[in-house]
Amino acid sequence: MVLYGLIGNNLGHTFSPAFFSEKFIELNIKAAYQVFELDNIDEVLSIVRENENLAGFNVTIPFKKAILKMLNEMDPVVSETGSANTVKVIRDKQKVRLKGYNTDVVGFEQSLLPFLSGRHIRKALVLGTGGSAAAVSFVLHKLNISHLFVSRNPDKKDTVSYPSLDREIIQSHPLIINTTPAGMFPDKKGYPDIPYQYLTSGHLLYDLIYNPPETIFMKQGKKYGAETKSGEEMLRLQADASWEIWCSGG
Ligand code: NAP
Repeated sequence: MVLYGLIGNNLGHTFSPAFFSEKFIELNIKAAYQVFELDNIDEVLSIVRENENLAGFNVTIPFKKAILKMLNEMDPVVSETGSANTVKVIRDKQKVRLKGYNTDVVGFEQSLLPFLSGRHIRKALVLGTGGSAAAVSFVLHKLNISHLFVSRNPDKKDTVSYPSLDREIIQSHPLIINTTPAGMFPDKKGYPDIPYQYLTSGHLLYDLIYNPPETIFMKQGKKYGAETKSGEEMLRLQADASWEIWCSGG
């Protein structure tokens, strides 16, 4: 039986095993999807060695950047974003090669475009600076949407702190994307610390979190008239894109 999987940390309530198990039944494929909890990214090598039927795996929090040093090959989007969420295990006789891809980029772009619904947004705020922020930034560049990152440690270029967000910054950035885990299950009461009172009905708030389906970030946005979107559509799109990669010959 072919094995696929997910590596990450704290994976108790992850969506992927149920999604892929349903897919395997739908497609009548004999395959399994297993969760691998890691403390350290180096453990990935023994997982690949010990599971000879492992053909591919997803990568999630907190390893999307750390996985790069374990890859033998990477898709150009991975080199550009410095982040991978999908790995194909290529076995050739005794040799094993790991090739990394970033399907968060596809998932985010394909779900963002209908949300923008033709609006000419030119400026965005990206909350967080981790693996998914890099995928979001890649898509925003492609769509010509300039953006600032908001970070708890704003020491990089184009990055500002949460306390620096004032009325002017919020109102001049009509698209705000949460790429932090603040508000994600089980921390349902958490939220990114932005001044929600400056939001308007002209704002679009996109939360990459999919559990819970409506976060406090989204609820606060709605309270001030903003349109909101959760990460659920992106999640399905990125998982479908991973499956296509594992099934492709390249
Ligand atoms: P990550 O690499 O760990 O990055 C998260 C970033 O958020 C960190 O770099 C950090 O940036 C900031 N952060 C972390 N904890 C925070 C806190 N308590 N409060 C405020 N900021 C915090 O994680 P990731 O892989 O990018 O994933 C982030 C979130 O996106 C998760 O909730 C994940 O489930 C979701 N996600 C969803 C999809 C989807 O398909 N819907 C895809 C990918 C990710 P600073 O240190 O700069 O503040």
